[in-house]
Amino acid sequence: MLCTLNEILPHAKKHGYAVPAFDYIEDVFVRPILEASGELRAPVILAGLPANIGGRGLDYIAGIVKAVAPAYAIPVVLHLDHAGEIEVIKRAIAAGFTSVMFDGSGYPLGENIAKTREVVKYAHARGVTVEAELGFVAGTDLGGDAGDVRLTEPGEVERFVAETEVDALAVSIGTIHGVYRAAPRLDLARLAEIVAVTDVPLVLHGGSGTPEDQLKDAIRGGIAKLNIYTDMRIAMNAGVAEAAAIVGARRDELPDRVLEPLYRGVFEQTKRNIDLTMCAGAY
Ligand SMILES: [Zn+2]
Repeated sequence: MLCTLNEILPHAKKHGYAVPAFDYIEDVFVRPILEASGELRAPVILAGLPANIGGRGLDYIAGIVKAVAPAYAIPVVLHLDHAGEIEVIKRAIAAGFTSVMFDGSGYPLGENIAKTREVVKYAHARGVTVEAELGFVAGTDLGGDAGDVRLTEPGEVERFVAETEVDALAVSIGTIHGVYRAAPRLDLARLAEIVAVTDVPLVLHGGSGTPEDQLKDAIRGGIAKLNIYTDMRIAMNAGVAEAAAIVGARRDELPDRVLEPLYRGVFEQTKRNIDLTMCAGAY
């Protein structure tokens, strides 16, 4: 069933697990993610980036997810990831997205607060939840300039949450978007300081490739939503390589056999991430 972040993240926080948010670009991702989550009775967030699903993609994905979500007995959130423009957010909400992230992390604090509050006002009036980001999670994954990591300042969190009324807050504690060049070390002491000053469920971006023990510690320490994209791409690309070999052997091979390795790759990776976030059997 389709729902918002507020219907799942407080439960995750209370019970010490996180809900995985998988970025997708097409229904080739959506179906195996929902199948694996349904099988393991795990809540799931389908997160799409404006660069991947902008324009007609918003209607296309929303149409698919709205139609199929009721077939699964688990909570499904249809979420817009890293939106920087309120116009895109308005279009996503009109299309049926139940949740949006406004990423104002590139702005100075006061401007981030003002813009986030505007989005929250608009979204809450329509029953849609909002995630924001304080600090900056760097990486080349999202295109453009990677920028420098700015860890979240615990001293800014209380004011940010009080003035914006966000439903979830992405924090920067040492992860990056994309593939790591050196093993990260998460700042769990900083996470504890943030948890001490706010009740809002916290979000960690850049989950892919982060050592499992550190991620689990972060989840037990208060992270309620974990974003995963790179690992899904790697899994799907391995499926594409398998599919290429199948087509190489028979160029008119049936499409279900060609696509099977792609679906299987995403399906198995989803299960691994459900394991990692400890959310199996939550529903
Ligand atoms: Zn992100």
